[in-house]
Amino acid sequence: MSEPDLSLSGAPAPRHRSVAVDVGGVVVGGAAPIVVQSMTNTDTADVEATARQVAALARAGSEIVRITVDRDEAAAAVPHIRERLLKTGVSVPLVGDFHYIGHKLLADHPACAQALDKYRINPGNVGFKDKKDRQFAAIIETALRHGKPVRIGANWGSLDQELLTHLMDENAKSAQPQDARAITREAMVQSALLSAQRAQEIGLPQNRIILSAKVSAVQDLIAVYAELARRSDYALHLGLTEAGMGSKGIVASSAALGVLLQSGIGDTIRISLTPEPGGDRTLEVKVAQELLQTMGFRTFVPLVAACPGCGRTTSTTFQELARDIQSFIHDSMPDWKKRYPGVETLNVAVMGCIVNGPGESKHADIGISLPGTGEAPAAPVFIDGRKAATLRGPTVAADFKAMVIDYIERRFGAGGGRTAAE
Ligand code: SF4
Repeated sequence: MSEPDLSLSGAPAPRHRSVAVDVGGVVVGGAAPIVVQSMTNTDTADVEATARQVAALARAGSEIVRITVDRDEAAAAVPHIRERLLKTGVSVPLVGDFHYIGHKLLADHPACAQALDKYRINPGNVGFKDKKDRQFAAIIETALRHGKPVRIGANWGSLDQELLTHLMDENAKSAQPQDARAITREAMVQSALLSAQRAQEIGLPQNRIILSAKVSAVQDLIAVYAELARRSDYALHLGLTEAGMGSKGIVASSAALGVLLQSGIGDTIRISLTPEPGGDRTLEVKVAQELLQTMGFRTFVPLVAACPGCGRTTSTTFQELARDIQSFIHDSMPDWKKRYPGVETLNVAVMGCIVNGPGESKHADIGISLPGTGEAPAAPVFIDGRKAATLRGPTVAADFKAMVIDYIERRFGAGGGRTAAE
């Protein structure tokens, strides 16, 4: 266990030491890289739609995918989803999300229990009153029989009411009672930790337990996870629940998870975005990757730094080139990843004028500084900090793309290690 620490040293605090858990071949916790995961929103009973979405999430970079298992039809579909995925070469670990009747579904559908790589259970709704311990134990015993890990995922919206009531009563009797919010946070932490302790008493080893305690408010989430990390060394799954749609969901999740990751907390993350109707579910994977990459934890795709533009970029040339380069890189990555190992560490800059353009371009591996309003119609290109060319005329975009490809070939290609500036 290590104390969470926020520092301004330009580097994250040392990672919270957690016990590593193997989830279908993907390691979560310990010294393993922080894992990106996601969740489908299809009806799991629809084998084809679910397999298609799992494959899309995996291809987008999700390293673990969770699916809802809410009824018999869904449980029966799980082995078929697994089979269909394997036929198409997708071997991403699958996690089953169980609420209320998980014990029964897992008992009645052993093929589902076997096909899944992890079970996620919510201590707040695994069972109520005298059934709670029995049903919780049944799930843990199934996990033991099938050799699977379990995520014990407490959630603000379905918090264990018996535990909360007990803590509220204790607090009311205390000489210095805390506010209700603090007690609710404590109930979240205790719900996860007491359930994990119970699972271990039943026989599930710590290296098969992951904890989460999802909350929808940023400050509460930070407080709850800081406390979980302080009190335990379980592998931690981070996520802001009910983060919301569009920029609100992205900002709230990034703010909460960014603070925790910077303080060394978190072994796997999921960004819970509400998609636009008909929107692309893989956005949550992209955001998770971008969060980890921009914070310097992992590299997934080349980053394009682009200035925001201002009154000095009155034409759309700069925006068009920034967009073109971004989509050119995105579209080329499936091929580049195979041909150019390490290409994901590439940094490209597309800048709008002479003010910051040359400086920022010099910091990138390859960067272009376009002419701003009133500047000479010339675009210097910098490679590894040195001016390599000046582009002019209507083919600037195509010429710059060709230079990017040339740079990638030289640096990451079979004969790699050389750069255009050499
Ligand atoms: S680099 Fe130039 S165009 Fe871009 S924001 Fe700065 S001043 Fe504006």
